[in-house]
Order: sequence, then C-alpha cells, then structure tokens
Amino acid sequence: MNTRDTLKINAKGHLEIGGADCVELAQNFGTPLYVFDEEYIRRMMRVYRDTLQREYGENSLVLYASKAFSCQAIYRIADEENIGVDVVSGGELYTALQAGFPAKNMYMHGNNKLDYEIGEALDAGIGCIVADAYSEIDKIDAEAAKRGIVQPILLRINPGIEAHTHAFVQTATTDSKFGFSVSDGTAERVTAYAMQKKNVRLDGYHCHIGSQIFEKQSFVLAVEKCMDFAADMQNRLAFKLKTLNLGGGFGIWYTDEDRKISAEEYAEYAKALVAAVKRKAQESGMELPFLVIEPGRSIIGEAGITLYTVGAIKDIPAVKKYVAVDGGMFDNPRYALYQSKYTPVLANRANEEATEIVTIAGKCCESGDIIAANVALPKAQSGDILAILSTGAYNYSMAMNYNRNKIPPCVLVNEGVADYIVKPQSYADINRNDVIPARLAKKTK
Ligand SMILES: *Cc1c(COP(=O)(O)O)cnc(C)c1O
Repeated sequence: MNTRDTLKINAKGHLEIGGADCVELAQNFGTPLYVFDEEYIRRMMRVYRDTLQREYGENSLVLYASKAFSCQAIYRIADEENIGVDVVSGGELYTALQAGFPAKNMYMHGNNKLDYEIGEALDAGIGCIVADAYSEIDKIDAEAAKRGIVQPILLRINPGIEAHTHAFVQTATTDSKFGFSVSDGTAERVTAYAMQKKNVRLDGYHCHIGSQIFEKQSFVLAVEKCMDFAADMQNRLAFKLKTLNLGGGFGIWYTDEDRKISAEEYAEYAKALVAAVKRKAQESGMELPFLVIEPGRSIIGEAGITLYTVGAIKDIPAVKKYVAVDGGMFDNPRYALYQSKYTPVLANRANEEATEIVTIAGKCCESGDIIAANVALPKAQSGDILAILSTGAYNYSMAMNYNRNKIPPCVLVNEGVADYIVKPQSYADINRNDVIPARLAKKTK
C-alpha cells in the first residue's frame, strides 16, 4: 500500500483511511469523493517545521504551497500548525483570508499577477510578493506608494537546473515562463532595477526547480546556484541577501515506480537544503538569510485518496479491459495532462489479489479521460468501491465541471470521524452563473 500508516485494511477486508472505513465513507457521502487524512497532513507540516527550527533556528519559515489543495479548512490547519502558506492567485488569497489566515504569513507567487491581484495582496497586508516580471515590480512599487507602504518582495530567479522529472513540471531550465535567468545576466539587471525602487524592499530570491523530484542533489545544486548568485550580487551591487525561498518539489509515492519516502527522509531533504545554505554562506562570508521552503505535494498528496463506484465494464478481447468509474478527468485531469500514474485499490475487497490488467476510465466524453492506464486489479464488478491512492495534491485543485459533471466534495477524516471540508455541488451550483439574455428567453408559442 502507500508509504506510511495512513491506509490500512480492516477486519472486513475494507480499505481504511484515518480510521474510517472507505466503504462506509462511500455509503455516507456518496462517490466520487475526495478523502483527506488530517493526521497525515499535520504530521508532514510538523516534519518540515520542526526540521527547519532544529537545524536552522527561528530564522526560518515553512510555507504550505496551497495550489496543491486549497480550501478554507486547509488554511486553518496550516495556521494551527504555525506555518505560512503561499498563494498564486487572488482566489487563493481570498480563500485564505476568509479562513482567517494571517496575511503576514503569506507569500504570493505567479508569473503574471494581475493588477487587481497585486492590489488585493497589498490591501490584505501580505508578507511578501515574489515578483516575476519587470512590470510587476513597477506595479507593486506604484501600488505600495499609493498606500504609503514599502512592500517586501523577492525575485523569482531561474538557476538553470535540469531536474529529473516530467518536462511539463520542470520549471527552472533556461526555457521557462518562470523566473529571471541567472546565466544570461537578466537576474542581475532585475536586482539592480528593484533595488532602486522606493516602495519595494528587495529582500532576496526565490527559486522552485520543479515538482515530483526525488534527487536530493538537484535541490542542493539549486541552493548552491542561488547562494553563488547572491554572493555575486553582494560583491557587484552591494546587495545583501535577507531572505532565500527555496520552493518545494519533493517527490511522493504514486506507484511502485516511485521511491517511498518516509517522514524521516523528508526531514533529510530539508536538512540537506539547510546544510547547503550554511556551507555556502560561510564560504562567501554572507550572513545566514531568513530561510523559506514551500512544499505542497509532499504535505497533501499521499494524505488524500479518491473513492469511486465502478460502473460499466468493457472487455475488448485481445485489446483492453476498461473499468469505468463515476468520476474522471473532471475530478482528476492529471492523466490527460501528464499521463500520470496511480495505484488503484478495490476498497471493498482490499485483500483480494490482483488478477488482471485493466484501464480505469472516467465518464467524460473524451478518449483521453483516463484515471489510470494498464493497472493491476482484482476482477472488478459493477458496484465495487474503487480507491485511487495519492490524489491529495493537484486533483481537487484542478477539478472542473467538464460535461457539467459536479465537482466531488471533500471530506477530512481524523480517528474515524469524517467531516465535509468542501460540500457537494448541486446542479443549481453548476448553473449559478448562467444567464439567458432576454432575446433568447423561451417564447410561448
Ligand atoms: C508548485 C509550487 C510549489 C510546490 O511544489 P510541490 O511540488 O507541490 O511541492 C512551491 N513553490 C512554487 C513557486 C510553486 O509553483
């Protein structure tokens, strides 16, 4: 099963998550259903927080990268665990604020922040904005001047690391829509530019080299490049690095092709980053910066599963067997986007051995609407409850109403107690913003 003890098979042979029987969850809440294990989420937040505190001290902050899974409850958990969050849109900012999350512990990212998003962030009193374009620096400066404040910012730099991961989730090679390139001098020019602005305070740099990365060395290399660049800027521009934000990107287990990483091993990743920052600071005679990391997937990914009910089964002799479920790309578009792989479990017969290779398809009118291709499963029957593991990150947050399917609700489980954190959509919700102009109104004939 998955990496740790979040999932069990109980005496009935049913899959259990956070002490809740998945078959009962399906009965009580319906399917498709996203289920999140609160204990797991909190444990991962603490692993990172405690490791930074122990290895680096108070001069550090863990941010939960909330684009992985955003809803009001998750911001409450992050706040209770004394970590910050990053947001990448006005919508995430709004959700966090509505949940009472303190703006000073928020960072805002994005490669094209809209003017009104910058305004909203400043009005909220956001802790830091990570600028990713000249025009953004101008806008933040102008808007901060209007409000009579000086806004702390970081620059997103691109250190040019090739991390071993899927091309679509690589973000720090030279050809990327993200960041100012270090190698061609852009990052230096932008540093000089930002330094002379009156209403922004350039605190340092941010880099995020990609996602679902397992090689510790990729992260260490990124730290080294960032610290070398900062030392360079100290020498050439007398710029003093106050903050270094190293992004997220730690890989998680989806299938047995991925390494299983224990909580202790995630701590080792954080330790490796800390060690590299300390070593580089010492080498170049820099003071230790305020250190920020922002994992998303590794906090929430394995905490979540999706439950479906098996429907139509189509066996195409000598070709393929399709097992269709009541969800699909509208709740999990990651196969369609990246050919992502997942592990399925028949939740009502979790002890049974896998005897066939099937492709799990969704219900959308799209051939690419696949949840998992060529996976091993016991002989599935219509009515079985199927669990897909490791769907906590980038599933609900990417969900959509394609084919006007309802986005499934989310429940949070803890010691067997399950509560909605996102309620089910109704058809009326889907139609809520539809308007029929008068000229199209149905005429009585
Ligand atoms: C997506 C993202 C993260 C989190 O990445 P994970 O792979 O989910 O850990 C962190 N920082 C930035 C800027 C991101 O875009």
